[in-house]
Amino acid sequence: MTVGLLVAAAVLFVGSVSLVLVRARAQMRLEEGSQRVSVWYTSQALVELQRFRTMLLRHDRGDAGVPRHLVEERYEIMLSRLPLLVEGEEATARSLLERPDVVEGLRDSLAQLDADVHTWHSGDVVRRTRIEAALDEADQLLTGLNLALHAERKDALDAARSHARVLTAIFVGSLLGLLVSGALLLLLIWRGARRTADAERTLRVLVDALPVGVAALDTTGRIVLLNEAGLALTPLDGKEAAIGLPISAIDPAPEAEAEIARVFASGQPVPPRDSLARHRDGTERTLLVSTAPVFGAAGAVARVVRVAFDVTEQRSADRRIRHLAEHDTLTDLPNRLLFGSRLKAALRRAEPGRMVAVHCIDLDHFKEVNDSLGHPVGDQLLLAATARMQSTLREGDMLARLGGDEFAVVQVGLAKVEEATTLAARLCTVLSQSYRLQGYTLRSGASIGTALAPEHGMTVEALLSRADIALYRAKGGGRGRAEVFTPEQEAGLRERRAVEEDLRRAIANDELFLAFQPKFRVATRSVHGCEALLRWTHPEQGAIPPGRFIPVAEETGLIHPITRLVLEKACRQAMLWRAEGLEIPVAVNLSAGHFGADQGVQLVREALAATGCDPALLEVEVTEGVFLRSAEAATRRFTALRAMGVRVSLDDFGTGYSSLGYLQHLPFDVIKVDRTFIAGLDAAGPGRRIVDAIVRLAHGLGAEVVAEGVETEEQLSALQQLGCDHVQGFLLGRPLTPAALAALARREPAPATVPAARDAA
Ligand code: C2E
Ligand code: CA
Ligand code: CA
Repeated sequence: MTVGLLVAAAVLFVGSVSLVLVRARAQMRLEEGSQRVSVWYTSQALVELQRFRTMLLRHDRGDAGVPRHLVEERYEIMLSRLPLLVEGEEATARSLLERPDVVEGLRDSLAQLDADVHTWHSGDVVRRTRIEAALDEADQLLTGLNLALHAERKDALDAARSHARVLTAIFVGSLLGLLVSGALLLLLIWRGARRTADAERTLRVLVDALPVGVAALDTTGRIVLLNEAGLALTPLDGKEAAIGLPISAIDPAPEAEAEIARVFASGQPVPPRDSLARHRDGTERTLLVSTAPVFGAAGAVARVVRVAFDVTEQRSADRRIRHLAEHDTLTDLPNRLLFGSRLKAALRRAEPGRMVAVHCIDLDHFKEVNDSLGHPVGDQLLLAATARMQSTLREGDMLARLGGDEFAVVQVGLAKVEEATTLAARLCTVLSQSYRLQGYTLRSGASIGTALAPEHGMTVEALLSRADIALYRAKGGGRGRAEVFTPEQEAGLRERRAVEEDLRRAIANDELFLAFQPKFRVATRSVHGCEALLRWTHPEQGAIPPGRFIPVAEETGLIHPITRLVLEKACRQAMLWRAEGLEIPVAVNLSAGHFGADQGVQLVREALAATGCDPALLEVEVTEGVFLRSAEAATRRFTALRAMGVRVSLDDFGTGYSSLGYLQHLPFDVIKVDRTFIAGLDAAGPGRRIVDAIVRLAHGLGAEVVAEGVETEEQLSALQQLGCDHVQGFLLGRPLTPAALAALARREPAPATVPAARDAA
């Protein structure tokens, strides 16, 4: 709109000026016309004609002051005026040409006059009369012409005057237009300015009210505007104090100045960035700073505007969320996620020739503490263990909680493997010390597996899995130990994995079956009972001995379905034999770990219920390992089994670590002397005395004694002398098929034997 008005004003102005010019030119032409009109010449010619006539009259009267040559001189002057009249300038000529009769008449009378004047002399009355007549004629013509020209001049003047009046009116009009448009323009400019001022005031109030810091800079990089919120983020006293200062006065970030220069140069906004600032209230703030150009009318960047958005709360919330996402809530240690990224970073930064160790730490018996004493005690144990580990670490080492009772340590910058093993051993030591928590004295201990970069891998996954393999090995080696990874461990593990997979399939495909090894009464050599021994015929690998797959089943939990399977098969077989008229109790092996986890007793109960087997036909063999953890719990379980009517047998007796002291409190029915002692019976050594002591002990406690692994007659006779009740071994009977065992039990001739791990075809 303003532009339109400006254009209109300009058009008016130009129009006015050109009209003024037209008028000025018309005025000029009018002046020229009036000046050059022949009136003046005719008047002069008339004046000279009268002067000549007067001279002539004075000469005629004989005036001495007027001699003839003066008369002739005057005549020449008069004539000099007349040619002008004829050949004068354009206007004169034109006005005369318009009157040819006047010109002819003048010429004629002048020609007459000229002839008479030159021949005239005093007293020549005829010529004197003709001269007088020619002069009258010329006088008359010139007077008429003068009058006509005068009238013509008057008309021209009138026309010019009216033209001038019109021109003046136009001039005045355009001048007025110019004045009005100028005034209008001024008004508009003033109103525009007033509106701009209003707009600017509004804008300033608005900008000041904004909760974000706003600053504007001019092309020299000086501040031209700073709002209240922006001021609060500077050490300046007032907004005015900021005007004219460079950006560094409000943003000390080194990149601030360069950013502003970049926006001016490119006309592009700068991507927002975080910047730190100190608020007037003394707090440190995080600002999200955006810098953008403001284009002027000419299209160039006229200003740069910076907006600083206070994101302190947001950022701290982000940090809190991030912390929560990366840390364990109980111990506040880095979790698996952060552990992974920190380890990755440590591997990237690792100096050549230096090693990074990853220790996987597993608290022993944590689950039992948690289960028996409750989660609050479990949590306290984890916190106490965390504190102990942290106090053992050096600066730069990182402790993380990977989950449950699993911890990990990253140790960086190692020159020797010993530095890693020393730390692992120290961790084992501090964790093995007893805890006093909520009135309980607890022992936990820890197993540690260690892997080293670069030797055992350079990725988080490789190192963690290998440290885990070593940990697995440490646990298998009896807990409370630390192991460094070796490739053999991995090979062993790989084999175990393969076995596990096959074993799952074997359970599903019913590839597992039982062989039954008879136990004989020493006195009569008759079948007293049998032991159920698990057999697995792999479709490709053939018979796999239990020593290879039972440990895998124990580690993987597959022992549970397997034990159920064995118990049910054994119960069914004993009932089948009873149906055949044979009383052959079956002994089933229960793994110590599985039994200790309270699942064994339950499985026995379920098997009896499922098969309807008489508990008197079932015996359970457990190794001394079950007492290692808790003699109390083992006693409880033994009691439970015996209450069901199931006999309990202590397997592999003498190989365990436990003292004989606990035996007197244990409710068991049978002791099976381990075959290493039986093998020792052959030589004349301490073997015999040990077996003798065991037999006496067992009998003293009211239990029966079974000797395992009896392979020779000598062993058998020695056992007989020592008062052993029963024997089991290849000498009298290998593991057999049910039918073969039944035949043996009936004392039928030539019982078929089943070799270890291959039978029951
Ligand atoms: P164990 O309980 O000590 O079982 C006796 C082992 O000694 C059997 O080996 C048997 O074949 C072997 N044996 C018997 N007489 C002789 C002998 O005169 N000389 C020699 N050298 N060995 C003899 P097998 O069947 O290989 O079983 C090995 C171990 O596997 C068993 O030791 C037992 O601990 C475990 N096992 C077997 N079946 C089961 C089962 O169903 N469940 C569980 N949990 N463990 C089982
Ligand atoms: Ca056994
Ligand atoms: Ca045994």
